[in-house]
Formats: sequence, structure tokens, C-alpha cells
Amino acid sequence: MTTSDAPRGDTLAPDRRADLLGMTFDELRDWLVGQGEPAYRAQQLAEAIYHRLAPAFDQMSALPAALRERLDTLATIASPQVRALVASKDGRTRKLLLALRDGRLIETVLMLYPASPEGRARATICVSTQAGCAYGCTFCATGQMGFERHLTAGEIVAQVLYFARELRERPWTAPDGQPIDRVTNLVFMGMGEPLHNYDNTLKALRILNMPEGLRIGARHMTVSTVGLVPGILRLAEEPLQVNLAISLHAPNNEMRARTMPVTRKYPIEQVLDAVRTYVEHTGRQVTFEYVLLSGVNDADEHARELGRLLAPLRQLGHVNLIPVNQTAAGYQPPSGERIRAFRELLRIEGVTSSVRAERGDDIAAACGQLRTRETRLQSASSARA
Ligand code: SAH
Ligand code: SF4
Repeated sequence: MTTSDAPRGDTLAPDRRADLLGMTFDELRDWLVGQGEPAYRAQQLAEAIYHRLAPAFDQMSALPAALRERLDTLATIASPQVRALVASKDGRTRKLLLALRDGRLIETVLMLYPASPEGRARATICVSTQAGCAYGCTFCATGQMGFERHLTAGEIVAQVLYFARELRERPWTAPDGQPIDRVTNLVFMGMGEPLHNYDNTLKALRILNMPEGLRIGARHMTVSTVGLVPGILRLAEEPLQVNLAISLHAPNNEMRARTMPVTRKYPIEQVLDAVRTYVEHTGRQVTFEYVLLSGVNDADEHARELGRLLAPLRQLGHVNLIPVNQTAAGYQPPSGERIRAFRELLRIEGVTSSVRAERGDDIAAACGQLRTRETRLQSASSARA
């Protein structure tokens, strides 16, 4: 085949095409105008991408054929390549292993919740913000990989769009419930530290929130952080007020530093000061995540100490207890009885708590676990070959 016969899409290296998923609506419009298109095409294009959920330009029938062809050569809205898709036995947790353009692997999880007395049915996506992570928490499979790179805003948005398309095509019906055909909630709790990749994460939040986008409300988004103080303070100033979750996981600095090296840089007192500022600016409740590691941080004295630490925040602080998902590090989750005792001691100190329901354990659902498992399987099979 001569060069002129080659499909035009192949003449540009993929990384030179504009990633439309990483653009806010204003950027999309400016980009189209820069290509000589009328500004009103931006509305049509955004509508095709985010409302009709077209997976490719050639399926955007509202756009003229000539523009569809040009977009194909100049731009992309592609999902990363799916390396593995696994569903839990009950079908309510679905996990993707995705390969980015440079071959880096990330994970994205869809969690489906039936309606309950507390609220309507939900489809929550757990999104990755980085490949790997720099913070090295000892219980976290991603932390053991080290940092690879930040994801672009487009790579973050693409994860959500993948499941948005899937739910549109095959809505999920909860037992005795309404079918759910759209993404309702986002948690930034996949691979990586969102506030280490602050700009791209915030841009992705804005794109996912915008009226021309998927219109996911800021109140339905939660950013989870290992406790990066400057990032928390910046987030407090943002007009888009998302929910904040702090990964605390220990009631004092000495214990926390053993499992979370970041503690040496940002001690608990500084993190709590930043949280207070966040609460003052936003008036919103902050969640403190506490991964329970049997025999490490789950004793009565730890519950009391945690309760005393957080009680001054009153109703603006809430603890989410997470029995650890087992990884190569060998930590064990405590018994149900231990968890109940821990909660009761928090309650006595005046701190509310909930226990995160274990989900998708049969598919290695904690962040970084699927990639670790797949990589191990691959190296085992190549060692056999
Ligand atoms: N880097 C951010 C967000 C990603 S991790 C953060 O640390 O908050 C999302 C949550 O999963 C964090 O609370 C993290 O501590 C928790 N987590 C990590 N490994 C886990 C494991 N093996 N079992 C249960 N939760 C885990
Ligand atoms: Fe990174 Fe969060 Fe895992 Fe810690 S828990 S290593 S910050 S992803």
C-alpha cells in the first residue's frame, strides 16, 4: 500500500490526535473553531459523545459526513483497550483492566447498588487517576507498584464513559427495582493519588460535571486522598465542591508512619487542620477511611484514640471502616465481632461510623489487585512457555 492509499487515520501518530475527552466544552468549541468549523458544532459533538454515547465518530449521524471523516483523522474519543473484564458472582461488581496508549495498565470498577431506605439505586464508578502510586502504603497493591505516571484528564473521563456506554446498552435491573442505565456516582478511589495529579483530576471532574457532559453532580463525586495537605487546601477553594475522603488508617503518627510513609511529610495534625479549613469553606461532612488490619490498628485502645482524635469535628466527621482486602502484604481483616466492638467504642466517643460492605472479593476488587494478579498470571505463563 502506498502512503496515499493509507487510511488517513493512520497517517497521524495516535498521540498527535486531539483527545476530545480531555476537553471542557469551551476547549472543544475553540478547537473546532480552530479547525474552521462553526461554533455550534461543539454542541452537536458534545451531545453525540456524552448524551448519545456514540463510541466512534462514524456513528455520529447528526454531524456531516465530511466532518466525521476529518474528526477521524484529527481527533480521538477512544476508550483504552480492555485487557480483562471480570464480574463478581452476583454481577454487582465489574472490574476492568485497561491498557493506556503507552501500554500502562490501570483498573476501573463499576459497583451497582440496589435502592434502599437510604436512597435510590446507584451505579458508582471507582476511577483511577494515576498508573501506579508514589505513596507506598504497605497494605495497598497499587502502592507496591511505585509511581508510573499521571493520567490525563481524557484518560480519567474515558474510564467513566466506558461504563456509561455499557449501562446504556445493557441497563442493570436491581431485584424488584427500576432499571439503572446511567452512571450516578463517582469515587476517585482507584489506582493512584488524585491530589498528586491535581490539575488533571479537577479537569476531569469539571468535564464529567458539565451540562454538555455526563452531568454527574459534584455532590455525587468523592475524592479520596492519602492526606496531601496543599491539595486539600486547594480543593477547599474550588467552586466545584465534591465530597472529600481522607485515608487515615491509624489513630496516631507513629502507627500511621509504619503503614503510610506519607505521614512523615504530612503528620495527622496538619491533615486535620487542612480538613478543618475544608469544612469551614464547604460546610460539608468529611469521611475518614480506616482500613482495619487485624492485630495492627484494630484494638480497643486504637478505637478510643481515633474517637478522641475525631470527636472535636462533631457531625462533620464520619468514619468509614474498611476490612482490609487481602494482598501480597499478608494483612488480615478482623472478625465481625471485633469490627462491632470497634464501632461501639467510636460511638461512645461520639463519632459516627459505617462499615464498607465487602464487594467483589472474588474478583480481586481492591485497587491494584487485578493488575497484580493478571501480571502474575502472565509472567507465570511466559515462564512456562
Ligand atoms: N490514593 C487515594 C485513593 C486511592 S486508594 C487514597 O489513598 O485515599 C482508595 C482507598 O482504598 C484508600 O482509602 C486506601 O487506603 C484503600 N485501600 C488501599 N488498599 C486497600 C486494601 N488492600 N484493602 C482495603 N482498602 C484498601
Ligand atoms: Fe497510593 Fe492510595 Fe494506595 Fe496509598 S492507598 S499507595 S496513596 S493508592
